Amino acid sequence: MNVIPLSMPDITDAEIQAVVDVLRSRRLSIGPRQARFEEMVAERAGRRHGIAVSSGTAGLHLVMQALGIGPGDEVITTPFSFIASANCILYVGATPVFVDIDPRSLNMDPANIEAAITERTKAILAVEVFGNTAHMDAIAKIAQAHELVLIEDCCEGLGGRHRGRPVGSFGRVGVFGFYPNKQITTGEGGMIVTDDDHLAAACRSMRNQGRTDLEIRGDTPALSTGHGWLEHVRLGYNYRLSEIGCALGIAQMERLDEILEARRRVANLYIQKLMDWQDLMLPTVESPTDMSWFVFVVRLNDLYGPVERDRIIAGLRRHDIGSANYFPCIHLQPFYRERFGYERGALPVAESVSQRCIALPFFNSLDETQVELIVHTLSVMLQREQLMRKA
Ligand SMILES: *Cc1c(COP(=O)(O)O)cnc(C)c1O
Repeated sequence: MNVIPLSMPDITDAEIQAVVDVLRSRRLSIGPRQARFEEMVAERAGRRHGIAVSSGTAGLHLVMQALGIGPGDEVITTPFSFIASANCILYVGATPVFVDIDPRSLNMDPANIEAAITERTKAILAVEVFGNTAHMDAIAKIAQAHELVLIEDCCEGLGGRHRGRPVGSFGRVGVFGFYPNKQITTGEGGMIVTDDDHLAAACRSMRNQGRTDLEIRGDTPALSTGHGWLEHVRLGYNYRLSEIGCALGIAQMERLDEILEARRRVANLYIQKLMDWQDLMLPTVESPTDMSWFVFVVRLNDLYGPVERDRIIAGLRRHDIGSANYFPCIHLQPFYRERFGYERGALPVAESVSQRCIALPFFNSLDETQVELIVHTLSVMLQREQLMRKA
């Protein structure tokens, strides 16, 4: 167990009480908390519909399926992300087309998207990497001009805004994730948000075994076995989110502004203390108040390579400080290389950045003393590298 973990969910008595209340109610799935949680997240994203699902990955899968994306279709996306944002393209048999990123924001470079469009392109799947919302308006414009569907994988961006517009409102559809390291958590969980009534209905049905939308008042339908529970109008899945998860989500959403503020405070502490370090590049944000901080990732300058970076991460961990290499490039993951024949150098900016990134501990309750310890330990590791370089 790290003395300072990489990440930690922010759970208060309100969350614990909310979960206990569900258990006492005996209504553990498909109930009033699901509807309420959906409303809260949809409202925050400026959307008409929210569809709670069992994970962000499940939500992305449903969205791809509901949009009718399939074999022969190309989907333009980023190589610098968590793997789920590309895997969902493979789930439906479509082809991911990775385009290189902007070295400052670390999101897809809009110019590279334009260049990658072919007549097989069906959609653009954009990610607000590390919570940075840069280029979302430009990407939305490109999608519109070329009549492509924009899917927003906003799993890292809850509560952020870009030029006044909330994260989750840019695409035809957006997907949030609530794994314990995200801004808010439901343990496991996710949420699809959209204004498209048909898409919403399809996703609702598919998350619930392809049933038609069910009345949620009264008993859980499965327990009363009425309401057409055993009629399935399409191929579906069990991607439901339990009432326990939804209750946790509601309690977290009620505290969202407080949570985002706490994360901003921690990010600012790091920025203050690391600002003048020659060896590091700090996260660049156009407008800091628009950023929803997901993680705090620093980048080593180009005197450092992957060997040095990994040694620094190992050094931090030896001192019981959580650290990680967010993100290795998706196109260079073993099964992507095997399947699509990607070679090193294919996407030079993403590859160069991803070899030099270090995620530092980042969670709401991180205090100044802890940040000082992390910063001090990191400085020792960097000094060690400088000595090794000279030797
Ligand atoms: C977290 C995340 C997801 C979804 O993750 P789940 O663990 O399935 O909830 C998808 N895409 C990105 C970019 C993520 O960071």
